[in-house]
Amino acid sequence: MQLAVDWKIVARRSVSYLAMVLALAELLVGLYYASQGAGRVYSGMIQTAVVTLIVGTPFVVHMMAQNERLTMLMQRLKKISSTDDMTGLLNRKQFLKEVTGRLATKQLGKSAGAFLFLDADHFKTLNDTYGHALGDRIIAFLGDRIRSSVRSEDLAGRLGGEEFGVFLSAVDSERARVIADRLRLKVQAAGLELGIEGLRLSVSVGIAVHRPGITLQQLMSEADQCLYAAKDAGRNRVIVSDALQAVA
Ligand code: GH3
Ligand code: MG
Ligand code: MG
Repeated sequence: MQLAVDWKIVARRSVSYLAMVLALAELLVGLYYASQGAGRVYSGMIQTAVVTLIVGTPFVVHMMAQNERLTMLMQRLKKISSTDDMTGLLNRKQFLKEVTGRLATKQLGKSAGAFLFLDADHFKTLNDTYGHALGDRIIAFLGDRIRSSVRSEDLAGRLGGEEFGVFLSAVDSERARVIADRLRLKVQAAGLELGIEGLRLSVSVGIAVHRPGITLQQLMSEADQCLYAAKDAGRNRVIVSDALQAVA
C-alpha cells in the first residue's frame, strides 16, 4: 500500500524531537563536567551536539517518517472499517453508532433530530430487468444523491442492500419531510437522467422524529413502520410518523 508521507510534518517533528534529545544530552554533559570548569563544559557540549546531530538525525527522521506512515495507516483503516465501499457513506455499524451518540449527547428535553429510512422501490425487478451490475451502479448513485442532499452536520449510511438511513440533526417533522421529499424528487429525476430506456427509479421514505426519552430502537421502529406505510400506499413517497399517528 502506497503511503505518501508529508515531509514537512516529518521535518517539523524531527526538529522538535532532536531539540529535546539534544537539550537533555547537553544538560547531562553540563552536570558531568561542571567540576572541571567552563572550558571543559563548553567543549563537551560542542562534541555532544555534533555527535548527537550526526548520529541522531537519520535515525530520528526515519522514526518520524515511520510514525507518520503508521498514523496515516490507522486513519485509512478507520475509514475503511466505518465506510460502505459501494457508496462511500457510513456503513451500518458506524452509522448506528454515530446516531446513538447524537441521541445520548442531546440535552434533556430537546429533540436530537429526525431519522429517515429510505428504501429503493422494486429493486429486485430492476436487477432482474437491467442486471445486477446496473443495480450496483444505481446503489452508488443513490448514495451520491443522498450525500448531496444532507448537510455536513447530518449522518448518512447504507444500512444494507438497497436500504439507507439518514439522521437529520435538529430538524422538526416538517423540515425533515421537505428535505426527504426533495431527495425523493431528485432520485425520480435521476432515473430519467441516467438515460436508460424504461428505467423508473424511486425511493420510499419513512421518517420518525426523536423525542427525549425514546431509544434508537424505538425511533428506528417508528421510521420503519412509516416506510412500510409508504410502500403500502404505492411507493415513491414520504411518510412522517406524526402523520401516521394522525391517520391511525
Ligand atoms: P420494495 O419496493 O418493496 O422495496 O421491493 P424491492 O424489490 O426493492 O425489495 P426486496 O427486499 O424484495 O428486494 C431487494 C432487492 O435488492 C433484492 C436484492 O437482489 C437487491 N439488492 C440488495 N443488495 C444489492 C446490491 O448490493 N446490489 C444489487 N444490484 N442489488 C442488491
Ligand atoms: Mg426495496
Ligand atoms: Mg429493502
